[in-house]
Amino acid sequence: MNDILPVDTPYWQYLERTVERVLGSYGYGEIRLPVVEQTELFKRSIGEVTDIVEKEMYSFDDRNGESLTLRPEGTAGCVRAAIQQGLLGVPQRLWYAGPMFRYERPQKGRQRQFHQIGVEAFGVATPDMDAELILVSARLWRQLGVEDSVELQLNSIGSPAARQAYRSALVAYLEQHREALDEDSQRRLDTNPLRILDSKNPDTQALLNGAPELVAYLDDESREDFDRLCALLDAAGISYVINPRLVRGLDYYNKTVFEWVTQRLGAQGTVCAGGRYDGLVAQLGGKATPGVGFAMGMERLVLLLQEIGAAGAVAATVDVYVISAGDDAQRAALAATEQLRLQMPELNIIQHTGGGSIKSQLKKADKSGARVALIWGEDEVAAGTVTIKPLREQGGVRQAQQSLPVQQIQAALRAALVSETE
Ligand code: ATP
Ligand code: MG
Repeated sequence: MNDILPVDTPYWQYLERTVERVLGSYGYGEIRLPVVEQTELFKRSIGEVTDIVEKEMYSFDDRNGESLTLRPEGTAGCVRAAIQQGLLGVPQRLWYAGPMFRYERPQKGRQRQFHQIGVEAFGVATPDMDAELILVSARLWRQLGVEDSVELQLNSIGSPAARQAYRSALVAYLEQHREALDEDSQRRLDTNPLRILDSKNPDTQALLNGAPELVAYLDDESREDFDRLCALLDAAGISYVINPRLVRGLDYYNKTVFEWVTQRLGAQGTVCAGGRYDGLVAQLGGKATPGVGFAMGMERLVLLLQEIGAAGAVAATVDVYVISAGDDAQRAALAATEQLRLQMPELNIIQHTGGGSIKSQLKKADKSGARVALIWGEDEVAAGTVTIKPLREQGGVRQAQQSLPVQQIQAALRAALVSETE
């Protein structure tokens, strides 16, 4: 479980800001959910024979002997809340963000406490909703500037009945080759055979080339919905790759499943994954309500932002550094700076603290990355003026400093900072 340090938090904040804006622009509302739920909730939703429930959950008994679990994912809790809080009568578009916990082998892009942003839409069974969710994620990649680094993989896993029929055919085929399977896949053959499809073992993958394909077993409705989804994505200009072996690690999915994958992070390349889960609400005791959603791994997205060199977009820049010399000047500077923060809340302003000569304060101003310094010396206080000193070059020249009446700071800053960004 990691600490997230000040050198990295600007990336997190940038991601969070962008997500909030993009999801708001599609009409999604934020829901804040508890980190702990009853263990039973995850067993019933994620499935008993999944990696998560079999070996990854942080579960404990509370003082009352009730088994609780640190949430390993967000969908189960979101569905639980939607049922309990009566949110399901009308279509709901929800999102949440926060820590998730899984006992895994930690490595780059894989932690025991990690963070997800989850998006869930309830109450719409048609594939236009699946398309909307994919559009939301695609919009997010564009806003973050990572759209060239991710690829959409898409599949349909059909109805539960279709999957059951396929499962039998797959098991029948793999049973003939049981000896050739790796240990993990042999175990899954008895517990969760569909998971063998995304085995990373090359020999197992080669064996699967001769296996029956899921698409041949799809029910008509799933097939039609999948075609409609693809047509909507085509119309929206979203490119995708159909990956017939894409299944998801959680039991509750049906029909559409998808993942956004990047090649830039090594083995932990899936930055976003989701799909449709029409049976889950009823399975957890609610009135049957279709649902579709996805979750993004925030650590992996932060790594990706760092990998593509997004520092410029992410950095919290200092606009103004305020300098003063002498007690009178310090008081005047403090009052004027507070006034400025009120008038121009969009600016990041550092007020120098800890004293020192004007010269040494100017060095700190320069180091802070600020674009201009505002200087109150004794002369300025006596005259009711302030000196504004550009600290960066623009178009190859650095503008000269100038003194002006305090009332004109705002206009002068506006001119100096605007022309700088142009
Ligand atoms: P994987 O196959 O990588 O274990 P998963 O299928 O278990 O992934 P999901 O449950 O679908 O993952 O979670 C959605 C996303 O959350 C993943 O695509 C990934 O970006 C992120 N994620 C999942 N587990 C972790 C983890 N332990 N550390 C960091 N990110 C994670
Ligand atoms: Mg996993």
